[in-house]
Amino acid sequence: MGRKITILDGGQAGLQLGCGLLQKGFDVTLVQNRTGEEIRAGKVMSSQCMFDAALENERELGLDFWAEQCPTVDSINFVVPAPDAPGSKAIEWNGLLDRPAQSVDQRTKYPVWMEEFARRGGTIEIREATVADLETYAANSDLAIVAAGKGDIAKMFERDAEKSIFDKPQRALALTYVHGMTPRPDHSAVNFNLIPGVGEYFVFPALTNSGPCDIMVFEGIPGGPMDCWKDVATPDEHLATSKRILETFLPWEAERCQTVELTDANGTLAGAFPPTVRKPVGRLPSGKAVLGLADAVCLNDPITGQGSNNASKAAKVYMDAIVSHGDRPFDEAFMQATFDRYWAYAQFVTGWTNALLQPPPPHVLGIMGSAQSYPVLARRIANGFDNPPDLFPWFAVPEEAELYLKQLAA
Ligand SMILES: Cc1cc2nc3c(=O)[nH]c(=O)nc-3n(C[C@H](O)[C@H](O)[C@H](O)COP(=O)(O)OP(=O)(O)OC[C@H]3O[C@@H](n4cnc5c(N)ncnc54)[C@H](O)[C@@H]3O)c2cc1C
Repeated sequence: MGRKITILDGGQAGLQLGCGLLQKGFDVTLVQNRTGEEIRAGKVMSSQCMFDAALENERELGLDFWAEQCPTVDSINFVVPAPDAPGSKAIEWNGLLDRPAQSVDQRTKYPVWMEEFARRGGTIEIREATVADLETYAANSDLAIVAAGKGDIAKMFERDAEKSIFDKPQRALALTYVHGMTPRPDHSAVNFNLIPGVGEYFVFPALTNSGPCDIMVFEGIPGGPMDCWKDVATPDEHLATSKRILETFLPWEAERCQTVELTDANGTLAGAFPPTVRKPVGRLPSGKAVLGLADAVCLNDPITGQGSNNASKAAKVYMDAIVSHGDRPFDEAFMQATFDRYWAYAQFVTGWTNALLQPPPPHVLGIMGSAQSYPVLARRIANGFDNPPDLFPWFAVPEEAELYLKQLAA
């Protein structure tokens, strides 16, 4: 038997890493707080749109069980409504993705991945793991990894004040999973509507337990008119509120929703959390160290749809690091170096995501508006969702933006 790895929590990152390590001959235990059946029948958790590089990680590990059934997302369609002419658009462009994205409901995916994990020889324990449990796992394993997403246990990792620029939620979030939405005319897209001062609405096709669906995602600026979910008591009210927002701000999206109905009574979610980066090495009361993975230590707002993509990419970085470490101890230096390798990529995702949460500076308005005139720019921004480092430095530095736009004009 290979070296023993315990992964606390099986979400996108934990299950992908666990299945991958089993393939490489490791002895892997996964601790999960719900059974597959509970997850399948539970509430939606995400909109989980994943772009090609992240999907490729799943394909490589033989975990892409839904590639044929899941509708594809072929482009990004960006719209800003005209502020003073209700019902019309100030900006609209469409950028084709080089390769399609897909979103498989985590309620559909995780239970099957749990079965696959067991089939590959992994051990699953169902329990709400505590720090005391972690002591036991850390003592009995060569390496213990915490991939608990937004779970409370992630708070054992110290917040990294330098890397976390917010200490409060930046958006009131809501999800509405529906059947019956009118498809876009040409090809599928993430329709990304940015309503200045109000928030963002995006929508795209996905696969859920009951088949193909569309996922509506609302990102309301706190205190604004889209921060309106607190008094919503039932799934029907949630759907009605979703439709009312579209009728008020985005009539072209409301038009597509004439006959929508919820996929199921658990197809809605509302909440908020502060985007937070944490120190990757967690210290247990005994002094033992554990390693944080994905959202547990690098949690971004969903505005750029990157969390599952990050989780997939982090899982791959960690897997490669673990496999190539041979027989050496998984000590703190290994843990820090592994996270640093991931952060070399993730810093761009976090930087870009945090930038979009703030009022756009003039150079960003310039870029987003110019993409209407330059299809090559529209395409580059769209494909930036698959590889955010490509958006730098020109998305972040005004002088670089100016230079790039001048080159495009020439
Ligand atoms: C509204 C919304 C929309 C989103 N849309 C997108 C999108 O379009 N694209 C995208 O890429 N990302 C999106 N995300 C983010 C994405 O869902 C997450 O970033 C991703 O799932 C993180 O994966 P993970 O493995 O770190 O954690 P998770 O997938 O959250 O998995 C963590 C697991 O740990 C379990 N757990 C927690 N605590 C414990 C405990 N103490 N003991 C045992 N088990 C525990 C949980 O039940 C869960 O199964 C969205 C998120 C939200 C909230």
